[in-house]
Amino acid sequence: MKKRPPAEFLSCPVDGCLNGRKPGHLMCFRCWRRVPMILRRAVWDTFDWYTRMSERAAARVRAGEGTCTSIGDLSAARREYDKAAAGAIAAVVAKKEGADAQAAS
Ligand SMILES: [Zn+2]
Repeated sequence: MKKRPPAEFLSCPVDGCLNGRKPGHLMCFRCWRRVPMILRRAVWDTFDWYTRMSERAAARVRAGEGTCTSIGDLSAARREYDKAAAGAIAAVVAKKEGADAQAAS
């Protein structure tokens, strides 16, 4: 019988947050709820695009076709996702700092 791998602990990327996040999730649920809807959409859309590009690139490799163009598309998709993810994280940090400042005053 195969041993199950230990549950992976992934930390939330938001500064000062000690919660864990699920594999495949950008951040913990609590922080994600603070992300404005428009930025959540950007994360979902760019992730979706990146996933589709990865699948297309993998299919081309399997078919023995050239990958030069698909790799270009793939890295562009990845850059857009990274940008959206960084924007979402920054939005949570900004909200958190705003709340902390209010609590301090
Ligand atoms: Zn968090």
